Amino acid sequence: MPLLTKNIMSERAILQIFHNFLSLLVQIPKKEEIMYKKLEIEYHHAESLAELTAEDRELVEEAQKAVKMAYAKYSGFSVGAAARLRSGRIVHGANNESEVFPSGMCAERTLLYHTETLYPDDPITTLAIASDPSERECYPCGGCRQVILDVQRRQGSPIRVIMSGGGTASIVDRAEMLLPFTFQL
Ligand SMILES: [Zn+2]
Repeated sequence: MPLLTKNIMSERAILQIFHNFLSLLVQIPKKEEIMYKKLEIEYHHAESLAELTAEDRELVEEAQKAVKMAYAKYSGFSVGAAARLRSGRIVHGANNESEVFPSGMCAERTLLYHTETLYPDDPITTLAIASDPSERECYPCGGCRQVILDVQRRQGSPIRVIMSGGGTASIVDRAEMLLPFTFQL
C-alpha cells in the first residue's frame, strides 16, 4: 500500500510539471475564460400528418410502405425510408438485419447507398422516415446522420428530413440540423 501511495504522488507531481511546462508553451485558458456558445436547432413540427404539404405527406406514406420491406427479425423494429430525388423519382429503403449483428443496415443508409449508386446525378431533395412500431417519431441513428450529411455535402444541395411516427412529424430543412460538429476528413 505505501508503495502505491508513493506512485500516485509521483504521478501527480509529473503531471503538474508537465502542465507547468505546457503553460509556458501555450496560453492555457483558465476555466472562467472559456467562451461558451449556444447552438440552436431549427425544425418544423406537425402535430398531425394532415398539416404536411401533399408532397411531404405522400413521401411519408411511401416510407410507411417501405416499412413492410424491412427484415427486422432480431430487433422487431422495422424502419422504412423514402426519398424524393430532384427528377421527382421516389426511392425506398428498409432496415435489413443479419445473423452477424453488425452486418445489418439501417433503412436510411440502405436508401442512400442504393441511390448514390444508381442515380448519382439526381440529388435527394427530401428523405422521409417511418417505423413499425410507430408510437413515436422515428429519428435516424448517429451513423445515418453522418451519412446523410456526407451525401448532402457531395451533392451540394440540402436534404430535408421528415421524421414521422405516432401521427406526427418533425422536419429539418438541412441535414446539419441533425448533427452539429459533423466529422469531416
Ligand atoms: Zn441508422
